[in-house]
Amino acid sequence: MEKFNSEAGSILVNELNATFGSGKTRIYEWRISQLNQLFKLLNFHEQEIIDALRNDLDKPPLETVAYEISMLKNSCKTAIKELKHWMAPEKVKTSLTTFPSSAEIVSEPLGVVLVISAWNYPFLLSLDPVIGAIAAGNAVVLKPSELAPATSSLLTKLLAEYMDNSSIRVVEGAVDETSALLQQKWDKIFYTGNGKVARIVMAAAAKNLTPVVLELGGKSPVIVDSNSNINLQVATRRIIAGKWGCNNGQACISPDYIITTKDYAPKLVDSLKTELESFYGKNPLESKDLSRIVNSNHFARLSKLLDDDKVSGKTVYGGEKDESKLRISPTILLDVPRDSLIMNEEIFGPLLPIITVDKLEESFDVINSGPKPLAAYLFTNNKKLKEQFVKTISAGGLVINDTTLHLAVHTLPFGGVGDSGVGAYHGKFSFDAFSHKKAVLYRSFFGDASIRYPPYTKTKMRF
Ligand code: NAD
Repeated sequence: MEKFNSEAGSILVNELNATFGSGKTRIYEWRISQLNQLFKLLNFHEQEIIDALRNDLDKPPLETVAYEISMLKNSCKTAIKELKHWMAPEKVKTSLTTFPSSAEIVSEPLGVVLVISAWNYPFLLSLDPVIGAIAAGNAVVLKPSELAPATSSLLTKLLAEYMDNSSIRVVEGAVDETSALLQQKWDKIFYTGNGKVARIVMAAAAKNLTPVVLELGGKSPVIVDSNSNINLQVATRRIIAGKWGCNNGQACISPDYIITTKDYAPKLVDSLKTELESFYGKNPLESKDLSRIVNSNHFARLSKLLDDDKVSGKTVYGGEKDESKLRISPTILLDVPRDSLIMNEEIFGPLLPIITVDKLEESFDVINSGPKPLAAYLFTNNKKLKEQFVKTISAGGLVINDTTLHLAVHTLPFGGVGDSGVGAYHGKFSFDAFSHKKAVLYRSFFGDASIRYPPYTKTKMRF
């Protein structure tokens, strides 16, 4: 097969621009038909999707169904149900200055957009933005991650079969192909992945003043309060579900580290050990309910975090590895120093460090002293602490007494702040991310005030 290069990129974008120019993608019926097709695709190909994710990540089928297929079906259903409402012009008030007048905000599609997605939730992260792009009436090119090759080729096959290929296309490939795509002029680029590549994407977009959404990551902390009689078992299970139950920690909003008080940490560690063993057994390397590490580079990266001298002797649970199977067991490290490697990069894997503080209030300073995370979590029954947390912590999203579930609430925007991202999506926010909000003012010929016309007399100035 011929390699996708800049020339091929230019031909592709021209083709899609021609389709967009025809007005086809703007029509309500087209949008609905494509969303219905996507829904059908998800319904009819569940097993193939499960198999692709087994191949790419050994992802447990339940996680694929719950966090990729069902989430996408919900996004489709919401868009189909709400689309008329989202598309309707929004009437807004006008001011005395323009009297008499009326005004509205009209959502219009941006044009031809590019979606670049990541490997960890390769189906969800590819199609969820595409749903927003279609709902908003755009033509779209999807570039899935080369690190999830089975999913990437399944997406190519299924989108070719189910979707209108004059306006929805997939380009597979790695850095070269993505670079060829980034050389084109897009009307929006939606990127999911790491902050280093995000800077490349944003620099390429800047050349054409192309707006971007950047869905990135970060170190998402969990604060566990020791003083408010929390249900520790429930808290522990929810931390585990958000960490190891989400692609074995390879999720952008997985808990990255825990902060708790010195005296409470041993109790928390005991609870984590008990629940982990009840979920994954005595030999978690063999568990079918844990994804593997995506590839040997990431395996080596995670191993380096564990081999750092600064955390030597800090592992209190797990730490087993099987390089031949790319498996690392759920691992807890206690009292890691803040200047260790593991506390200075996003972990994105099954390692969970705990740092301890004398007073829980100190945890806010710990979090705020680093880059703004994508998510932050707090377990407490203390009303004041909750209020302080919401007021003080700047993160993409916050959850109190659970982890990760804000992702499933389509009325909440999902996105980062600062280093964890630019822009947001999900539900109506996806539609808005791919729309231009056009300001429209209607005036009549009646009431033509002379004040704005020269000569600019002193009397006119007083108004
Ligand atoms: P990745 O390696 O799959 O890369 C993402 C995309 O960037 C891929 O499509 C890849 O082809 C492309 N790419 C890689 N190098 C490139 C280059 N030099 N030039 C142009 N394109 C390039 O995924 P990743 O970056 O390892 O993903 C993990 C990161 O993504 C983590 O930081 C995680 O937190 C974040 N993430 C964020 C979200 C979110 O929704 N906010 C979701 C998933 C992952």
